[in-house]
Amino acid sequence: MNAFHHPSYALLLDYATGNLGEGWSLAVATHVSMCSTCQESLAEMEAIGGAMLAADVKPAASCDEDLWSRVAACLNDDAPLAKPVAQPAAQSAGTQSVAKSSVLPAPLRDYLGGDIDALPWRRLGLGAQQVVIETREPGTTARLLRIPAGQRVPAHTHRGQELTLVLSGAYHDETGRFARGDFQELDSDVVHQPYAEQDIDCICLAITDAPLRFKSLAAQLAQPLIGI
Ligand SMILES: [Zn+2]
Repeated sequence: MNAFHHPSYALLLDYATGNLGEGWSLAVATHVSMCSTCQESLAEMEAIGGAMLAADVKPAASCDEDLWSRVAACLNDDAPLAKPVAQPAAQSAGTQSVAKSSVLPAPLRDYLGGDIDALPWRRLGLGAQQVVIETREPGTTARLLRIPAGQRVPAHTHRGQELTLVLSGAYHDETGRFARGDFQELDSDVVHQPYAEQDIDCICLAITDAPLRFKSLAAQLAQPLIGI
């Protein structure tokens, strides 16, 4: 089974050209490790970029013109072509070659040095737990979140950008259902109230560059305590 929700082309291109910060790159790399669709998109971007660097060639007739223009714009921008922080392994969501008990895909498990049971989970409100992931990127917070089965997260919007990648279980919000491997990009234009599906806790990787903006007064009052 492949993912249903993917990173945007713009985000994938920033990843491919090394223009993403560490936390964002970790989220994209982890999704790509589970998603053959995005693996193919990345391979196409890298092939186009390689061809452009090797010679002043024109896109092949089969090449997506929009993708070509995005790559060209990026390269003409003198963007650094450093490799992303974490290179995805070739896996798909339904055929992972990791240990049976492993929840975290290889890029994230390697980055953290262990699977979920080995991590220092800390309690938040409403039965939720988190692991804050240290990165070398000031202003960006990366965390694992565990939302209890059936639990609703207080309605909120975002002061900045938020990336969420589902690693176990599933959640729903106003925009759809997100299960293992699914990727959600949100900004301050969206107000949503995610809730975890029944029967299994939902574990996600979440990257933010600003605190959430909760809608209810109770959640706002609790926010300094829970640190999200
Ligand atoms: Zn994908």
